[in-house]
Amino acid sequence: MRLLLVEDDDHVAAALSAVLARHGFHVTHARSGEEALQALLPDTRAPFGVVLLDLGLPDQDGFEVCGRIRKRSTTPVIMVTARADVRSRIHGLNLGADDYVVKPYDTGELLARIHAVSRRAVPGEAESDDAAAGPAEPLRLGPMLIELPTRQVSVDGTPVPLTRKEFDLLALLAQRPGVVFRREQIISEVWRTSWEGTGRTLEVHIASLRSKLGLPALIETVRGVGYRLVAPAA
Ligand code: CA
Repeated sequence: MRLLLVEDDDHVAAALSAVLARHGFHVTHARSGEEALQALLPDTRAPFGVVLLDLGLPDQDGFEVCGRIRKRSTTPVIMVTARADVRSRIHGLNLGADDYVVKPYDTGELLARIHAVSRRAVPGEAESDDAAAGPAEPLRLGPMLIELPTRQVSVDGTPVPLTRKEFDLLALLAQRPGVVFRREQIISEVWRTSWEGTGRTLEVHIASLRSKLGLPALIETVRGVGYRLVAPAA
């Protein structure tokens, strides 16, 4: 798989490229936001399977680069940053990043996330999953309408843009309103991994969903267990 590594620190990039190459990735290195956007222009080679995007770049803010990548491509983006705060993470996911890794990270963690986002990005795979996951009828929950085949969500008729994982998470919880889903169960179904560090990512996605949908009480935290969707009043 081709991987675009956007990192201005040559030492970090060299070390990471070596690890990624050992795991079978064909790494292209970009040192700036502009180089990254150039590298993503279509050419005769196979498209990139994933972009690893450092947020601290010399020419542009990584968030801005992510937004610009998203405008021209659906390639999964994993943001890599030293900024650990939840607001930064939510901001990144709102701009269309597929995942978020905080430095210093464990290489195993990074590889697990690369595999997770690239698996989900395989064309066709998502559709067959959706078909098996539930009815084609839209799910109506109070003011919220979820259309599984087109992966569209609206609240009071206003479309709410969600990332792939946010949609998968919402669709999972919405299939059985009121039922508590265990954290491990959600992680295994939405992220297809049992890697326990994904719990932090789950929390960020829950926070992002609550905020984007404007329905903070929609997803209830069941302490020590997991989450459940509480059907909102119409
Ligand atoms: Ca940097």
